[in-house]
Amino acid sequence: MEHQAGDDIDWGPAGTEHFTGEVDFGAVHPPDTPEALAVLGVRFSPGARSDWHRHPAGQVLYVVEGTALVQDDAGSVAVAGPGDAVYAPPGEVHWHGAGPDEAMTHLSITDGGPTEWLGRKVTDEEYRSAR
Ligand code: MN
Repeated sequence: MEHQAGDDIDWGPAGTEHFTGEVDFGAVHPPDTPEALAVLGVRFSPGARSDWHRHPAGQVLYVVEGTALVQDDAGSVAVAGPGDAVYAPPGEVHWHGAGPDEAMTHLSITDGGPTEWLGRKVTDEEYRSAR
């Protein structure tokens, strides 16, 4: 068994290559191999969001604080609060982020390999239309 105190979990900036706004990653459970279970805390500042992407084996998002916006490329939007879970099936193109007024933290739970980024930012217009 391995018990990590919250203060011992390594948090650091996600960078801007695949995100808009200020986003931090927390290494809750880094994958033991590239395809293994990966649990990442992701903290978005107000208005921050990921770029469009997909996950080869799907993704569970579990909201810890704030309000999450999750949109798929068919246009559906999930507005999810603390304790809510959102599932993106394998290969479904989507983005996720915080609402405009408050920070949001979710857990990202994946396996099956790294995120596939599509090289497309979520524009301000796309972001505004998702609310
Ligand atoms: Mn995702």
